[in-house]
Amino acid sequence: MDVTTLSAAEIARKIKKKDLSASEVAKSFLQKTKSTNPKLNAYLCVREEIVLRSAKELDDRIAKGESAGDLAGVPIAIKDNICVQKTKTTCSSKILENFVAPYDATVIRKLKQAGALLIGKTNLDEFAMGSSTENSAFGVTKNPWDTSRVPGGSSGGSASAVAARLAPLALGSDTGGSIRQPASFCGIVGLKPTYGRVSRFGLVAFASSLDQIGPFSINAEDSALLLKVISGKDPLDSTSSDRPVPDYPVELKKPLSGLKIGLPKEYFVKELDETINDKIRDAVRIYEKLGAQVKDISLPHTAYAVAVYYILAPSEASANLARYDGVRYGHRSREAANLIEMYEKSRDEGFGPEVKRRIMLGTYSLSSGYYDAYYSKAQKVRTIIREEFNQAFKEVDAILTPTVPTPAFKIGEKSSDPLQMYLSDIFTISCNLAGIPGISVPCGFTKESLPVGFQILGKPFDESTLLSMTYHYQSQTSWHERIPSVK
Ligand code: GLN
Repeated sequence: MDVTTLSAAEIARKIKKKDLSASEVAKSFLQKTKSTNPKLNAYLCVREEIVLRSAKELDDRIAKGESAGDLAGVPIAIKDNICVQKTKTTCSSKILENFVAPYDATVIRKLKQAGALLIGKTNLDEFAMGSSTENSAFGVTKNPWDTSRVPGGSSGGSASAVAARLAPLALGSDTGGSIRQPASFCGIVGLKPTYGRVSRFGLVAFASSLDQIGPFSINAEDSALLLKVISGKDPLDSTSSDRPVPDYPVELKKPLSGLKIGLPKEYFVKELDETINDKIRDAVRIYEKLGAQVKDISLPHTAYAVAVYYILAPSEASANLARYDGVRYGHRSREAANLIEMYEKSRDEGFGPEVKRRIMLGTYSLSSGYYDAYYSKAQKVRTIIREEFNQAFKEVDAILTPTVPTPAFKIGEKSSDPLQMYLSDIFTISCNLAGIPGISVPCGFTKESLPVGFQILGKPFDESTLLSMTYHYQSQTSWHERIPSVK
């Protein structure tokens, strides 16, 4: 049996039944990572020794009859903007190249308690700014379905690792699509929870009103399992919600009959790739067969989402990134003659071009004289977008759209044109602006064998419906069972 092809739930069940040991699981994934990661650059660091040691400890505990957690012995890859104690957390930036996190993020603490094996840290666009991982200071990650193409971004390393089965699960962060877009490009499931569902404590902040941590997995059951572990109120994050956490793996199976699904006409534009459109229509037919009612709806302000996001996200980023000044941690320039020069040179040497572009855009939008015209206006449009979703959810239970307008593009194809790159987020951004949950589900392949995904958007805190829709769709289809052979 090739352990690396199993789902997280299957691995957890086999370990509990003692059909498999955590050490065997760890060794299988480490071995596959050793042979495949050099072709993909999905992991920036692999915690081999620590993982083997933790697996051994877990096996000893299980042998003694002690209870193992929900994710006991399940390997998980962690995006490198989430702090893992005593492990480098670089955000794929030179400015944090040698930064070792002194504490665990709340999600990491919960994963450790659940017995998960944190196999390594994955590549991303610097500070999660990008849609391809080409903005990483440590080299691009490759798409396992076609290594001449990007895996998407910014959580491209996590998506590539799960698609290639270098881990059955991964964590990413999603500010404007960074979980759902790479999930779609890599043919796996990616879920952005409702804002506040998962604690952000220990996630390096990009745009604090939009950022949310979420799971990558092969199927709905695994996402449900992981979401249950990481969700919940956290006194260390005042924006985390105290709503009770549903038992997602149980709620997964609730039937879809009578469910109302909306198709917003603004997402089915003429620029949408034809194959993607066809695959999504196929998925809609499957939902109809499963007993759902499908109707056309309208979200008229969709067209403004990209413009609003690229004012608000850089504004928040420019404030959040002010802390990297070479004083307490991170890169410090050796060239500076005085304090001001030390700040300037440290930041100039440490940040890459896209991060600098965002800081400049954000500083401009927030500066006096421009604040009302840009930042404040963008906030007002954000409110309208949120309100439009509220209205839509009075008519329908969930909204189905494409995740991205095109399949994975070639490395280098868009990197010289920031606007083209920004437009690849056109269908994912509104979800973050509205604070609602969204999931990307694999639904087929193009003629070039590139994965296609659809997106489901849900009511605030209704992750259960997204997961049950994914579960029932996957019980009728087998797209999620295909595994790429990495060349
Ligand atoms: N691609 C978007 C950006 O560059 C979204 C990134 C994200 O969700 N972290 O801002």
